[in-house]
Amino acid sequence: MADTIEQLAEKIGGLAGRRVLVRCDLNVPLEDGPGGSEDRVVTDDGRIRASLPTLTKLSRAGARVLVLAHLGRPAGAPDPAYSLRPAAERLAELADFSVGLATDTVGPSAQAMAAAAADGDVVVLENVRFNPGETSKDDAERRAFAAQLAALGDAFVSDGFGVVHRKQASVYDLAQLLPHAMGDLVAAEIDVLERLTETPERLYAVALGGSKVSDKLGVIDNLLGKADRLLIGGGMVFTFLAAQGHEVGKSLLETDQIPTVLGYLDRARAEGVEIVLPTDVVVADSFGDESSARVVAADAIPAETLGLDIGPASGAAFAAALADARTVFWNGPMGVFEQPAFAEGTRAVAQALTGVTAAGGLSVVGGGDSAAAVRTLGFADDAFGHISTGGGASLEYLEGKELPGLTVLGE
Ligand code: ADP
Ligand code: MG
Repeated sequence: MADTIEQLAEKIGGLAGRRVLVRCDLNVPLEDGPGGSEDRVVTDDGRIRASLPTLTKLSRAGARVLVLAHLGRPAGAPDPAYSLRPAAERLAELADFSVGLATDTVGPSAQAMAAAAADGDVVVLENVRFNPGETSKDDAERRAFAAQLAALGDAFVSDGFGVVHRKQASVYDLAQLLPHAMGDLVAAEIDVLERLTETPERLYAVALGGSKVSDKLGVIDNLLGKADRLLIGGGMVFTFLAAQGHEVGKSLLETDQIPTVLGYLDRARAEGVEIVLPTDVVVADSFGDESSARVVAADAIPAETLGLDIGPASGAAFAAALADARTVFWNGPMGVFEQPAFAEGTRAVAQALTGVTAAGGLSVVGGGDSAAAVRTLGFADDAFGHISTGGGASLEYLEGKELPGLTVLGE
């Protein structure tokens, strides 16, 4: 079992005055502000809010907290477009502790701010992915960067749930170099995932959508042995429709996955898992073209169009298929929810999850875009049992894979 923050505190003789490196997930969606791309603002601060309990606990215990986080996928070098500044500014607004921002991760700015931090201060170090060692596949290069990080602190707390499936320097290697603990967010996320995998209350329904088709096909394999009902929407549904022999036009399609999908459909039949696919689809002439949006039958998608949402009949059918569930896990928007013309399928599924919560069941939303979707569509966080901060990490956990960032903590 991984140590808790309290157990770590005991091991190192208290947290007051100690420099504690905390890996957080501050990878929030941004949009350009009034000053353009150098002045970006946070559009969904869910991950920042979710980081607050651990940071507040450490600050109140008198630790000098150094936050490690990434934003987006910069190319291993500093890039102002991926600065953590907007996230750090939002954290400062939400927090009751002082928040500083270093202009580098392990360089002179980070070193000076780490040295100057007072008890209870929180300093966000600049994007860990500005350093090639963070995501390097070369163990030695990753370890060398982790050693530079370790030199800044006395202990490490892993609280970036969204990255625990990554074997990266600030997630994995750093834990091997310092006394470490699992943060409260990671502990809370795992608690919910255990409830989904160990003895889920039946009926257990899973809804999957989003755009990363091959990422999400893997989870189906494991869920076929666990869930009672599987609803498929989003970009991945077109590989299912194609597997059934339908034309999918210019929709997202992974032809090479068709045999896999056919295998899943066979297994679902054999294991008595009900697969729910859309019967109608909202299509458009080109990606995001709302003016050409129209509803067609799922088995009659015109060749020159692409599917961008499940249709209204399917939205109602999906909601009905979730209404009698006691446990629901949902990952991936049903359509391109960022545009109102393609958001109704996602709204219908989100609404159905709130009904499950209201009836006393457990509803879990996983995935960064899914979390952003429920918030932009106006749902309150507490209408759901849990909104996970990690899409990839929760999927890999549900796939039964080992997560390097948890294993290294002793979990
Ligand atoms: P999450 O972050 O919740 O795990 P993903 O990153 O897999 O979800 O997918 C989110 C994206 O999927 C959204 O930006 C949405 O626009 C896109 N999407 C959903 N349905 C479709 C579709 N039919 N075609 C293309 N993109 C889609
Ligand atoms: Mg996403």
